[in-house]
Amino acid sequence: KKFNKKEIIQTIKDNTLFSWNPTEAAANKALIMEKGEGVYFYDTDGKKYIDFNSQAMCSNLGHTVPEEVIKAIEEQLRSAAYAYPCSIVTPIKAKLSMLLADLFPGDINHFYYTSGGAESNETAMRMARLFTGRHKILARYRSYHGATLGAMTLTGDPRRWNSEPGASGVVHFMDPYPYSFKWGETEEQITEISLKYLRETISYEGAKNIAAIFIEPVTGTNGILKPPKGYLEGIRKICDETGILMVCDEVMNGFGRTGEMFGFMNSQEEVIPDIVTMAKGINGAYLPLGAVGCRDRIADHFKVNPIGIGSTYNSHPVTLASAYAALQYFLKNRVLDNVKTLEPVMKKHMEQLKQRHPTVKGYRSLGLFGIVELQKNSNGDPFIEYNGPPHPAMTKLSSDFVENGLYTLCRWSSFFTNPPLTINEKELKEGFEILDKSLTNLDKHFEK
Ligand code: PLP
Repeated sequence: KKFNKKEIIQTIKDNTLFSWNPTEAAANKALIMEKGEGVYFYDTDGKKYIDFNSQAMCSNLGHTVPEEVIKAIEEQLRSAAYAYPCSIVTPIKAKLSMLLADLFPGDINHFYYTSGGAESNETAMRMARLFTGRHKILARYRSYHGATLGAMTLTGDPRRWNSEPGASGVVHFMDPYPYSFKWGETEEQITEISLKYLRETISYEGAKNIAAIFIEPVTGTNGILKPPKGYLEGIRKICDETGILMVCDEVMNGFGRTGEMFGFMNSQEEVIPDIVTMAKGINGAYLPLGAVGCRDRIADHFKVNPIGIGSTYNSHPVTLASAYAALQYFLKNRVLDNVKTLEPVMKKHMEQLKQRHPTVKGYRSLGLFGIVELQKNSNGDPFIEYNGPPHPAMTKLSSDFVENGLYTLCRWSSFFTNPPLTINEKELKEGFEILDKSLTNLDKHFEK
């Protein structure tokens, strides 16, 4: 029996629970994906949506699974569907690890495989504490690191409040770009003052007690914030001086989203983090997979000491096969080149939105990682303050996007433009035309 739309939503309400949002309201608003194809997906009535957020910024290769990925998954299922990661290894684990060691710069040569981003961050926390023998971990306020206890405690944004008091030992510090004020006018000033502040935080907490500093190199859901010039280099220097490990959360940035292979490459000089965590783009989210990568000296420690973590689905061979094939596809089809080619095109479209709509306050983007900030008046006031209550105009904008056939994430007074990295110029234009049309409605709420 094929379920119709009403039956699907009713059963979802009756028999499931939603992540993050109250189930009843979320189910009422939910889109149904019956079929995905390229940068589009279709509901049960055949209504087409262009995916302008790659679902959770993760369907980076679009919704059509490349034939070679399907074949790799199928072959792995037929040959060795599961192997116990504690004592059995698989050829695909060796192959993928060699490929990742090739893709990462420096001596990030060693990989541990998980089932997603949060678990990767939990693992990185554990590794950093065991390696350094220190307990505290610094993380930033404008950040998201995942929903398990440790990763949620690392998270700086209000999603953290759900799990408080959380795990012990995490201390938050401010970003180079706080929400309501500026550390300085130029990037150099911003870097200088925010690093000074970080150094002071470290001295209050005691460097000898701090295992790691976690950052999203380019902040994702908290605003697509590119690190100011010299910031990543500055963090690296502080870590080198204090023995604190630099951990880069590449879960959203990694594998091309920011126009570089990895987010930490958005620096002027080469910066090599001590530990990196990843998921999402590693296999275009075709199967649940995350990973942690680390440098030689850290791996040397765990060659003779236990890593202190493990779970049934670590290094699941089918997920590893999907990543190996997806990364081969990424490289063969020069997906990173596509991101670099379309980066200025997306900026041009965003600038046009700003020129055409008084409600568009500004935008930020790098690679195919973008956000449009909205304002309700010429003072630049947002429709919704940081974590503020819903505003009817923003609720209407979200429903206009859907009505007009576009899926993206609206957060407070902004929305994201994060299409699959395989999008072409025509499809990008089509998405921006829908944004343009939907914003015309929002402009009616602009207070002159
Ligand atoms: N870290 C970052 C930067 C993320 O964006 C996310 C998810 O959005 C996570 C970690 C958590 O990943 P997952 O949802 O796979 O646990």
